[in-house]
Amino acid sequence: MEMMKLSTIILNGKEVANQWEKEIISKVQDLKAKGISVCLAVARFNDDEASKVYVKKKVAMCEKLGIKPILIEEEGLDQVEIEKRVSSLNQNKEVNGIIVQLPLPRGIDKERVLSLISPEKDVDGLNVFSCGLLYKNLPGLRPCTPSGIVRLLKEYKIDLVGKRVVILGRSQLVGLPIFLMLLHENATPTIVHSKTKDLKNICKEADILIVATGKAKMINREYVKKGAVVVDVGISRLDGKIVGDVDFDDVFDVAGYLTPVPGGVGPLTIMSLMSNVIKAASIQSGIKDDLV
Ligand code: NDP
Repeated sequence: MEMMKLSTIILNGKEVANQWEKEIISKVQDLKAKGISVCLAVARFNDDEASKVYVKKKVAMCEKLGIKPILIEEEGLDQVEIEKRVSSLNQNKEVNGIIVQLPLPRGIDKERVLSLISPEKDVDGLNVFSCGLLYKNLPGLRPCTPSGIVRLLKEYKIDLVGKRVVILGRSQLVGLPIFLMLLHENATPTIVHSKTKDLKNICKEADILIVATGKAKMINREYVKKGAVVVDVGISRLDGKIVGDVDFDDVFDVAGYLTPVPGGVGPLTIMSLMSNVIKAASIQSGIKDDLV
């Protein structure tokens, strides 16, 4: 008798993000009822077209959720001037969270700028203090995309304990923090990158495969163990369409769980950011947070 194939479950990030959005709206209202308003400053110092779209999206999401956005868009500033802007946002008591949109212009020292953001306002979770808290598994503001991935896996009740996780990509934005976060969840993660030998076979051992290379459709079924959970972080434009790092159609009937692109990790990243803003506001006003 032919074995019936169990169907692949689509990890619907959009749906999880919609639920998360409701939680955040109610949290914002709770804070407002206590006389606390929430404010996010979004600063763009580059002249990058994609960044212009991203900052607008962040501002629009703030408005939707009842968070006050402050948008700073200034191009052509030097290091000293950028640092002055960040310092003034640190000192502004109305501002609960600060994001400096990356990339910063050529010649600007990114680490200096990011590390100038007060740790309690570092809602992107990218400065050295926030990274240190993550490293030590102490409470803090975590990078947004990895937090979104953890939330997605938990919403689908994917057990992480002891699981063999392979992460493609070692960026400070995605690969490295998701490695630490899943390690702290008692998974057994491995990072692979462009210099890794025998990449395909390592990927094929994964119970959970997280792909963040930025190489459109590089992962096909040959990299995926049958029934594995496959999370595609990538966003690339190919032939006028948005695609991920995973060849969705090719992997579909091999994976047990699979994120679509778009509609997978992307919508969760922005909700993680908003959730961090609420957390920052709650901590700053002395109210314990239960969202994150
Ligand atoms: P980076 O370019 O900073 O890092 C890419 C990583 O992938 C590097 O570590 C690189 O290795 C590795 N890599 C590249 N090619 C290969 C390969 N052929 N085999 C193995 N490893 C490879 O990218 P990011 O981490 O910032 O972003 C990754 C993708 O995720 C992008 O498409 C980005 O747009 C997307 N993204 C999506 C988000 C979302 O919300 N959905 C949020 C953030 C990013 P090495 O270090 O050796 O060079």
